[in-house]
Order: sequence, then structure tokens, then C-alpha cells
Amino acid sequence: MARDYDIIVIGSGAAGLAAAVSAADAGASVLVVEGEKQVGGSSRLSGGHFYAAGTSVQKEAGVEDTADAMFEHYMTLNQWLVDPAVVRRYCDLSASTLEWAKELGVKYPVEGLYRSGVGSVPRGHTPVGDGEEVVNVLEGHRSHNGVDLVLNSRVTGLVTNDEGRVTGIRIGEDEASCGAVIIATGGFGNNPEMIEKYLPQASAGGDWNWYIGADGARGDGLTLGESVGGVIDGHDRALILASPGFSRDLEVLLPGWLVMLNEQGRRFCDETAPYIVIAGLLNKQGGHAYAVFDEPTRVAAKRTPMFQAYWVNEVLEQKADEGRILRADTLAELAAMAGINAEGMEGTIERYNRDVDAGEDAAFLKQAEMSKIQTPPFYAVEIRPAMLCWTGTGLRIDADTCVLSKAERPIRGLYAAGETVGNLHGDRYVGGGGSYGPCLVFGKLAGENAAKYAQELND
Ligand SMILES: Cc1cc2nc3c(=O)[nH]c(=O)nc-3n(C[C@H](O)[C@H](O)[C@H](O)COP(=O)(O)OP(=O)(O)OC[C@H]3O[C@@H](n4cnc5c(N)ncnc54)[C@H](O)[C@@H]3O)c2cc1C
Repeated sequence: MARDYDIIVIGSGAAGLAAAVSAADAGASVLVVEGEKQVGGSSRLSGGHFYAAGTSVQKEAGVEDTADAMFEHYMTLNQWLVDPAVVRRYCDLSASTLEWAKELGVKYPVEGLYRSGVGSVPRGHTPVGDGEEVVNVLEGHRSHNGVDLVLNSRVTGLVTNDEGRVTGIRIGEDEASCGAVIIATGGFGNNPEMIEKYLPQASAGGDWNWYIGADGARGDGLTLGESVGGVIDGHDRALILASPGFSRDLEVLLPGWLVMLNEQGRRFCDETAPYIVIAGLLNKQGGHAYAVFDEPTRVAAKRTPMFQAYWVNEVLEQKADEGRILRADTLAELAAMAGINAEGMEGTIERYNRDVDAGEDAAFLKQAEMSKIQTPPFYAVEIRPAMLCWTGTGLRIDADTCVLSKAERPIRGLYAAGETVGNLHGDRYVGGGGSYGPCLVFGKLAGENAAKYAQELND
């Protein structure tokens, strides 16, 4: 029986659209099925940065970089607790995929190149028009290449034949047949049950938790993959940013004028450290800490382009009046209210104040304008990791994007790419572009490989 399509792609974010475009370029007939009313998923809401090494943009900026150096940094950052073959493929293909995206029409200007994460080499590539424009460019090619698209159609099952080969998809009672399926359904930030099951670290945020991504991120790819024998990998991996929990505003950094103390009353980091490490450090303190400052510092906290929602004098005053921020006339009183060891707090603040006078943060090397904590009232704001940006637990794939079974065998006819994949990210997010980059790299690769597989099938 003739199949409906060579390839069916589930999901129309960066990974799904990249897969669709490359599969069609390889000569396959392709259908993209999207559960929501518009294409793009979280990719459309995203900054769309691309973490890559050895690109033409880096060369233009005079930055020497290689896939080898990127691999070494990635593996070291994650203590080798990630899948080397998959990471290696990402590093090896990052530059050529970025050039491919440029040829399609995405612009990555040299001014948008920056040091993302904690590495010394600038590998973050910022696209003009953010993730939305990347989606628009890919969507334009999808439509131009004659790839069919259905919206508002959430895939509910996969169809297999007697040999266990994936041969189609199901949407309720309807079925469509194909040579291969590519799962590109994104993460599971909108699925509380999966968060509880796969992301225990999220419990630290409690009822402050919120997900910054798209509605369609319900983890369907994990369920679909598992239903045909796929394995879930990368337990408890995600990017969760620190928040005072006042509102649902995406502010990724903390201001340098505050100090953060754990329950022992000790500082544990440079408060302006990159966002990729702060949440992990908070988890090591038991899942929360307190930002402490005094009255003149609060009054001086003006609204800036970076700090609009939380760390602004009138917001802090209002939250203190509401009892949402602790306020006290002495540090000892503040420590008691927050459940912080008073002696530890007193000693830490004494030391910090000496450092402010000396103009140097001798303990944590913070490079920021610091303020002494000496004039009452004093304030303590609880901080928790609570802004869920993406999830890193998902389907286990091989370096060719085939979904693997428990027996480590590729499930025939099943590929996966993007946030639904679970064996690329470690405990530390590599930096800005570390998710969107692999979405494009593995989306494109999945499209090429699935097209080849489907074309070689004798059915
Ligand atoms: C605000 C924001 C900023 C970000 N900034 C960056 C950044 O600058 N750099 C970076 O690297 N990462 C960033 N990220 C993360 C990154 O954007 C995402 O990880 C990435 O875009 C995910 O792409 P995807 O294609 O895997 O999934 P998505 O873009 O989420 O697409 C998946 C699609 O699948 C659809 N779908 C799901 N289930 C089904 C189903 N059963 N049937 C049919 N369709 C289904 C969904 O509706 C969705 O449209 C950001 C994320 C957000 C939310």
C-alpha cells in the first residue's frame, strides 16, 4: 500500500521545521503536524541564539575556535555525564548548520556574537529578529518546498507494523502512514506530572514555579517515544532561573548591589555569576537563599533596562509592606525572621562591608558596584530557582538522531530532535544558544537521515 508521506514531522518548532526543510531538500515528501493553532512553539518565543564553534561570524570577529575546543568545554562543564557521541555530533555540525541557516536567510550579525555561559570563547550567536524570525525563515522554506502542514492536530499515537517499525501517526481515530516519523514536540514545561516525575529539582521552587515557554510543551514526544519502546534519558535536567517570586516576569540576572546568604548566614557565590550556574548553586544551599540589603541600597535601586520587575525601589517597598519581603531594624532580628544563623550573617556582613570599603570583593571576586549593609531597616528577600526555561530530560537518541530502545537498538522509522531529546544536556546548561543550536543541528540532521531511510525502504 502506498504511504501518505515519506516523512511525518510531529511539531513545528525550530527542530521540526528544520527537519521538514532538510527532508524536503533531500527529495522526501513531508507532512508537518502541529498541535497548536500556529507554528513555532517555544522556538517562536525564544531569543533564538545559536551556540556554535568555528563559524564565519566568529572568523569575521577574529575569534579562533574549533569543534574540538567546544567539545572539550562542553564535556568538562558537565563532568562527562552526557553522551559524548551526541555532543560530538552537535559540536561537529554546529558551524555548518549555522551557515545553512544563514543561507536560508537567518542573519547572525557579528555584533550579536557574545560569550554565553561560562566559557572564555564567544560562541553565542544572536539572530536578527530573535527566535521568531528564525521560525519565520524556516516556515517560509517549508511552504516554498511544498511541505504540507496541518495545525490544531495533536498527535496521540504512533503506528507500528508487525516488525515494530514505526509506519505512521494517529490523531484520535485518524491515521496517516509514512516511511519515518520525526518527533520534534519540544519539552514538558507545561506538564506538572512529568515535572514531578522527571524533574525533582523543580520542587525547590514550590508554588513560585512557572514555565516561560509555549502551551504545547506537554512532553508528548516522551510519551509517544516510550509507547514504541523508546527510552527516557537525562534525569532531572533543566534550566531553572533564580527568582524572588513576586510575579511572572522573565528577568534572568540578579543585581550586584545585593548579597545572597544561605541558612548558615554565609555567601556562596558572586551574586552576578552567569545565570547558568546560579540555580545549581541555590540547589546546593537546600533550594533557596536570601538576598540581603539595607534601606539606602533599596532607595537607590532604580529601574534599568535589565532590572524592571523585581529589583526596583518601589516594588521592594511595596513587597515589604505586604510582608512578602522581610524587614527588620537589626540584622539579628532579620536573621531570626529568615531562619538564618545570626552569627554567620553578622560575620559575613562585617566582612562584606570591609570589602566594600576596600573596593574589592575579596571573598567572591564580584565585579560590580557594591553597597554596604549598615543602615536600618534591613531587608531579606527569599530567592528560589523557579523560572523554568527548558527541560533537558527526554528521548535517548544516537548521534544520527535515531530513537534508541532499552536494548540500545535504533527503533526503525523513528527519529527525534530538539528539546524532546534527553541525552545531550547535562546538569549545567552550556549557555545562551545551547538549546536552539542543537534544535537546528539535530532537526536538520534528522530530516536528512529520515529522508534517506524512507527512500531506501522497499514498501
Ligand atoms: C522565552 C524563551 C527564550 C529562550 N531563549 C533561548 C535562547 O536564546 N537560546 C537557546 O538556545 N534556547 C532558548 N530557549 C529554549 C529554546 O528556545 C527551546 O528549547 C527550543 O526552541 C525548543 O525547540 P523545539 O523545536 O524542540 O520545540 P518547540 O519550539 O517548543 O516546538 C515544539 C512544537 O511541537 C508541538 N507539539 C507538541 N506536542 C505535539 C503533538 N502531540 N502533536 C503535534 N504537535 C505537538 C508544540 O505545540 C510546539 O509547537 C528559550 C525558550 C524560551 C521559552
